[in-house]
Amino acid sequence: MEGASSSLLDAEAVADLVLLDPLTEESLVQTLQERFRRRDIYVGSGTRGFGGTTGTAGTYIGNVVISVNPYQSLPIYTPEKVEEYRNCSFFAVKPHIYAIADDAYRSLRDRDRDQCILITGESGAGKTEASKLVMSYVAAVSSKGEEVNKVKEQLLQSNPVLEAFGNAKTVRNDNSSRFGKYMDIEFDFKGEPLGGVISNYLLEKSRIVRHMKGERNFHIFYQLLAGASPQLLQQLKLRQDCGHYGYLNREGSNLPGMDDAANFHAMQDAMRVIGFSPAEVTELLQVTAVVLKLGNVQLSSSFQASGMEACSIAEPRELREICELIGLEPGTLERALCSRTVKARDEMVLTTLTVPQGYYGRDALAKNIYSRLFNWLVNRINASIQVKSDKQRKVMGVLDIYGFEIFQDNSFEQFIINYCNEKLQQIFILMTLKEEQEEYVREGIQWTPVEFFDNSIICNLIENSTTGILAMLDEECLRPGVVNEDTFLTKLNQLLATHKHYESKETQNARRVTDTSLPPRCFRIHHYAGKVTYNVTGFIEKNNDLLFRDLSQAMWAAQHALLRSLFPEGDPQKVSLKLPPTAGSQFKSSVAMLMKNLYSKNPNYIRCIKPNDTKSAMVFTPELVLAQIRYLGLMENVRVRRAGYAFRQLYGPFLQRYKMLNPRTWPRWDGGDRQGAEVLLAGLAFPTEELAFGHTKIFIRSPHTLFDLERRRQE
Ligand code: ATP
Ligand code: MG
Repeated sequence: MEGASSSLLDAEAVADLVLLDPLTEESLVQTLQERFRRRDIYVGSGTRGFGGTTGTAGTYIGNVVISVNPYQSLPIYTPEKVEEYRNCSFFAVKPHIYAIADDAYRSLRDRDRDQCILITGESGAGKTEASKLVMSYVAAVSSKGEEVNKVKEQLLQSNPVLEAFGNAKTVRNDNSSRFGKYMDIEFDFKGEPLGGVISNYLLEKSRIVRHMKGERNFHIFYQLLAGASPQLLQQLKLRQDCGHYGYLNREGSNLPGMDDAANFHAMQDAMRVIGFSPAEVTELLQVTAVVLKLGNVQLSSSFQASGMEACSIAEPRELREICELIGLEPGTLERALCSRTVKARDEMVLTTLTVPQGYYGRDALAKNIYSRLFNWLVNRINASIQVKSDKQRKVMGVLDIYGFEIFQDNSFEQFIINYCNEKLQQIFILMTLKEEQEEYVREGIQWTPVEFFDNSIICNLIENSTTGILAMLDEECLRPGVVNEDTFLTKLNQLLATHKHYESKETQNARRVTDTSLPPRCFRIHHYAGKVTYNVTGFIEKNNDLLFRDLSQAMWAAQHALLRSLFPEGDPQKVSLKLPPTAGSQFKSSVAMLMKNLYSKNPNYIRCIKPNDTKSAMVFTPELVLAQIRYLGLMENVRVRRAGYAFRQLYGPFLQRYKMLNPRTWPRWDGGDRQGAEVLLAGLAFPTEELAFGHTKIFIRSPHTLFDLERRRQE
């Protein structure tokens, strides 16, 4: 095991930020930089280190490990490393994801506390890799019976399947998760995995029909075309050539370092392990092929006898093939793509669509099929991994969700994502502070609450059920008559005119602020992590997320069982007048459920940091890292840690470690642990405010005192 003391006391690159002195943003960045240079990518924050606070007592609060993406494979995930962290009765181990995973796993198993591991950071920072490391560590250290191994395999194999359908190459990350994921891993009382449940959040479905230059659509399409046998391709009525498909990138569909064909086979194997039947896999791929082929359905304009412009299918072959795949009469799909039934007075009237309207409907259909297919996939995996017995369970939740986003242009998606991050920040602050306070009370220690920015005002600005931005957006979406984003913005400006965290051109004018950087049709929110300007264009449409009823009815009319099941509202018998919940309100309620779930567990944090924008193993860009440190709230976290007592430890292990510093306790002390610690420290003459004696633990205020103890011990 690596000597902890030497690395902890190394002022240039402390392994625990609580020991950083002075604590400034610069010193924090410098520490990360120095450690990155040494390939020490993990840093703790008041987590591990001295005296086995976690090892023997497991009471350290809200473990935090910071991880800087190394952009190269490091030899730190070997079975030997697993052994090193596993159950070690350590007094100090170097910070590592394995350390946090081990601590969480043992608290769960031995102390019966459900755990959650919250992994955050921006795109490309290493969240998904971290979540897989947590999963594989837990799999490696839990027991190895045949039944248990099957469960573990199924849990691990959910990754390649979800990544194939939910990840894509973006400019930031070649394997970027385009959905949020939360997974509960469930254990029995002995700590053996029983199964799990996955929840997914907001898939970026717009990617189906459009992606930026240099990016790709979801991996599955390229995997399918590259990896499927000629027979399978024929069965799916697909051509191997990506360039043939309008929804795929024409250039650059091959990614260096990514073998689409091999990944396709791995994905198929994974589905087998999870328990998909061959028929299910075929159905899944057929629906995937339909999405791809929809993008090739071309429309052209024609004129009806009445002189009205109409749209029609330009080339019937693709449409015919789609219909063959899904068992639908081509005329039905054609009608649904080119016309629309509307209610005029009490009559249903078929009106023709223009070509742009036709394409709009086609793309909406493709996006809807795919996102519903993705939900189906998650449910299908859950059906396999779900725990079937009603045995008592212990739970470890792992959250891998998009980090805070500030782009040049921010839209509805960023608004939703950043709202989610506000909620996570709230949990971070409340849970660390709450736990800290509770510990002091439990131990009978006096303490003054720490000042911190409570972001509930921002959460409220977004989610309040009457005056929140989401509620106003919903109201606007439901309002009869002409609705557009301008009326939405006007309303926001009226209601939020004086809100401290809200700004727009209008409120600025009223407040006589001149700021040329805020464009029209935009509003700006002062998030905890910075100011973000959102353009309201598209908010209403994205929130409504409506599909022409003719299209859902056409899908429901298909014989294809899977596809049909994705469009239950297409059943004409079940036509309800109630609109489905909006995207925003759905997201709000799933975030509320997530928060409730997280609050019931003991939190552990993995804060991922991206060192550069070029995916390079050699480059560390301080400005970039500083921005992340700010919005991850790292300074706040370290400050909270230091405001109270930086370290605490049960009397027993503390005495063991330092008893040689006082001849009255060395070589042995025959009294109680607490008395021993008191006698030991009395001889060392630390200022009284440095120490506090709790019921079961000694508390030490500043890292210097601890430095001092360590130094004397080494001497
Ligand atoms: P997104 O939000 O876009 O999904 P992410 O935070 O999940 O991003 P990852 O996909 O986990 O990012 O990581 C991006 C890439 O960085 C990985 O594909 C891998 O190449 C590299 N990487 C991340 N973590 C590690 C690690 N611990 N060791 C080696 N390489 C890593
Ligand atoms: Mg990811």
